[in-house]
Amino acid sequence: MPDIPRTSVDRKARLKIPAQQIGKQDPNVRVLNWSEVYLPLDIATAKVEAERCIQCPAAPCQVACPVGNDIPRALWQLEHDDPGGAAAVFHETSNMPDMCGRLCPQERLCEGHCVVGKNAKPVRIGRLEAFVADWQRHHAPACSGRAAPTGRRVAVVGAGPAGLVVAEELAKRGHGITVFDTWPAPGGVLRYGIPNFKLEKRVLDEKLAELRRLPITFVGETYVGIGGRKTVDGLLAEGYDAVFLGQGASVGNPLRIEGSELAGIVQATEFLSRGNLRADELPEAMRVPLQAGRRIVIIGGGDTSMDCARTSVRLGAREVTLVYRRTEREMVGREEERQHAREERVRFEFLASPVRFLGTASGRVRAVVLERMELGPPDEGGRRRPQPVAGSEFTIEADSVVLAIGYGVDEQVAASATGVLMDRYGVVLVDRVTGATDRPGVFAGGDSINGADLVVTAIRDGRIAAAAMEAYLAALPAPLG
Ligand SMILES: Cc1cc2nc3c(=O)[nH]c(=O)nc-3n(C[C@H](O)[C@H](O)[C@H](O)COP(=O)(O)OP(=O)(O)OC[C@H]3O[C@@H](n4cnc5c(N)ncnc54)[C@H](O)[C@@H]3O)c2cc1C
Repeated sequence: MPDIPRTSVDRKARLKIPAQQIGKQDPNVRVLNWSEVYLPLDIATAKVEAERCIQCPAAPCQVACPVGNDIPRALWQLEHDDPGGAAAVFHETSNMPDMCGRLCPQERLCEGHCVVGKNAKPVRIGRLEAFVADWQRHHAPACSGRAAPTGRRVAVVGAGPAGLVVAEELAKRGHGITVFDTWPAPGGVLRYGIPNFKLEKRVLDEKLAELRRLPITFVGETYVGIGGRKTVDGLLAEGYDAVFLGQGASVGNPLRIEGSELAGIVQATEFLSRGNLRADELPEAMRVPLQAGRRIVIIGGGDTSMDCARTSVRLGAREVTLVYRRTEREMVGREEERQHAREERVRFEFLASPVRFLGTASGRVRAVVLERMELGPPDEGGRRRPQPVAGSEFTIEADSVVLAIGYGVDEQVAASATGVLMDRYGVVLVDRVTGATDRPGVFAGGDSINGADLVVTAIRDGRIAAAAMEAYLAALPAPLG
């Protein structure tokens, strides 16, 4: 494909092309299934939408993309009937355009900076990215070439996006890669968190099949850390030349109020996993079917809480209430997700915070007692701090309560690596340019170094660390024999 003739692109004509309709399942239909909300695009619609890109030379969309995808070039390829070429452009800078196209908060990344969006709807970059990545997987799967074996061995802790990217990049360079995870199957939050209606598991499974062919070895149900089957120090002693810490931020924050030990009060990850996955993808202890009941209360205001609420609807709950202590304006998650939740009849209870849970005689939750909040002065992060309104308690009846109030990093992983430093929240400290920790040979990335963040930043960190690990491995003395 020749270079984009940016000076001769007729921007005025392109600005007149109407935004294309991107189909979605009807809310009344989609609550009865687990399929993705968005319907597949057709090539004709995708090409017209791609043509809306005015090919601005500064490409603010690309600058705003954490992995720096060359979006204008990819859309130019698509517009010129080359979806495979477009996918290849995304693959130059991202290992998972199929996931990013579906999951990135595009409204504050690429699409939020799209120049077309100043006077009209921005180009639907995310949907087009997912479209070309899917097209390529089904029509012309990229064969990841593998270099000759180097004799080097690398252990990856955590099979989420950060770990998978490190594994892919280093396996392609001929290193022997083993990925350890506590869950039975790989994928991290892509499998054990994000519901099917946002990302169908077949997309992940197809990616994993490609990785297994490289080959990459996945070892499930293995906790790496103090008290686990493996430690990081132990992996290095076993002969691994380098270790990547991609354990994410997978520990759900507890809510320490009266009654929180009652049955029926569950953490978001357990709820989402048991609600969305087949029994054989779950550990033995979690295979009992979820009896969530008819009235479910979700506590929290991020994307995780929205995923829990919409999972509740699909599990058949009649009343799903999402409780958040600030107003919608302070919510950190995607507006689109809130819109989808509203369309699916999730009820929002803003400016409310739980005070205690009430239980039945048999020890199961039956209600949440809440108090009204009002917003005070801003906190350190700039968001107005909620404070209770005296005498404002009220009760919502609940058969189940789901806690989605944020995640922390499990510090036992890095604690098992002598010399690796963490902050007081267990977040691993690294050189941001290389992902290197203070222990030579140990690198980290993704939520383990950022706290709970995004799929795309985990991918970016994985790529940064993989490049630095490759340089580290190349500088080691030649392996014996
Ligand atoms: C419910 C939910 C919905 C989300 N929705 C979105 C979204 O729509 N868009 C978006 O961009 N981001 C979303 N995120 C955030 C995103 O999923 C994460 O930022 C991303 O997955 C981080 O990738 P990671 O590889 O660092 O960690 P993870 O995906 O968390 O993977 C870490 C892996 O390490 C494993 N592990 C942890 N400790 C150990 C140990 N001691 N030994 C072995 N293995 C261990 C875990 O089991 C896990 O499989 C969501 C998060 C959640 C929880």
